Amino acid sequence: MTDKAKFEGKCSRCGKAHYSNRKGEIVVCDCWRYCPMCGAEMQSYTPDLAPNTYGMDDKRDLRILMVCTNHSPPFYSSQKPVEVMVE
Ligand SMILES: [Zn+2]
Ligand SMILES: [Zn+2]
Repeated sequence: MTDKAKFEGKCSRCGKAHYSNRKGEIVVCDCWRYCPMCGAEMQSYTPDLAPNTYGMDDKRDLRILMVCTNHSPPFYSSQKPVEVMVE
């Protein structure tokens, strides 16, 4: 069990508390994977572009996009994983 966890950090996005017994540990909250509108777990969305469509690197940044298909049009999220500092 986790009853030795002394330190707590709250996610800045959803407010969920994360616990650890190591101060300063970074915990990744999983709320970024859930749709903020309906709460369903979203699917990862990969833009269907050929890697060399625009030639150089400027379109290749590592944005994580998730999609919830429960909506019309589908809801796209660019929310990144939230890192929570436990202290
Ligand atoms: Zn969260
Ligand atoms: Zn949704």
